[in-house]
Amino acid sequence: MTLGVELELLRALHATRRAVVGAVAYDLVTLEAIAAAGEATGCPVIAQVGSSAFGLVHGPALIAAARAVAGSATVPVGLHLDHSRDLDEIRRCLDAGYTSVMIDGSRLALGANIELTARAVEVSRPYGAWVEAELGHLSGDEDRSTGAGAGEPTDPDEAARFAADTGIDALAVCIGNVHGRTAAPVTLDLGRLERIAAATPVPLVLHGASGVPDAVIAAAVGLGVAKLNVNADLRAAHLGATVAHAAADPTGDDLPGALAASRQALTAHLTSLVQAYTA
Ligand SMILES: [Zn+2]
Repeated sequence: MTLGVELELLRALHATRRAVVGAVAYDLVTLEAIAAAGEATGCPVIAQVGSSAFGLVHGPALIAAARAVAGSATVPVGLHLDHSRDLDEIRRCLDAGYTSVMIDGSRLALGANIELTARAVEVSRPYGAWVEAELGHLSGDEDRSTGAGAGEPTDPDEAARFAADTGIDALAVCIGNVHGRTAAPVTLDLGRLERIAAATPVPLVLHGASGVPDAVIAAAVGLGVAKLNVNADLRAAHLGATVAHAAADPTGDDLPGALAASRQALTAHLTSLVQAYTA
């Protein structure tokens, strides 16, 4: 049983300027690809199964699948709740075996965000789970690309206060990154990232890593980003492989073949990310 990416592991990656890949999964095909990428590289990986997936499929069943995949993997596979705004949901997921959670109070004013986040930390501690929170606000939709522009940037001084007052273990930053693919290339404010990293010792998290050039991601990891969230590129790889398989399939019903093609495409994409930033 290797369920979980422990806080010590996240901190060790941070200390050596590497980053774990947090991949959003809506189904079993993606969950298997995440574990396969970890195993192909010998590196820890994190499967992120969140509220939006629960709306598409039966939450407990998907969580059980994630636990089964993680439990039989030969590398640590974390099970992470992404962008939760609800302490009850956090409790339910921790009861179900999640090993880390993200409380997202980024739409709130600073004081209210601190209050909500501190409560999430309090709820999570007895489970031994670590907590990520967001300061500033990332724009865009978490489940589909909307062409959003950059959101509200993270203020380095506020980040120092936020981390100290809440006791969080990881901080999601907004430095020009956006959820989903964008029409114009995203520009990350690496100077701001450097100031945030200098202001707080906690590992930083970059959401919306899809579509950001490799060299820019590498620079961000070098400055203290220890977790990279990917979703849009995975959705595109998943759908792209399915569509390509269907287009080349004269029978029009080779679903098993399409699922295998998607799993292969997802594994290849994730393996290259893990190899580049975690290994
Ligand atoms: Zn996000």
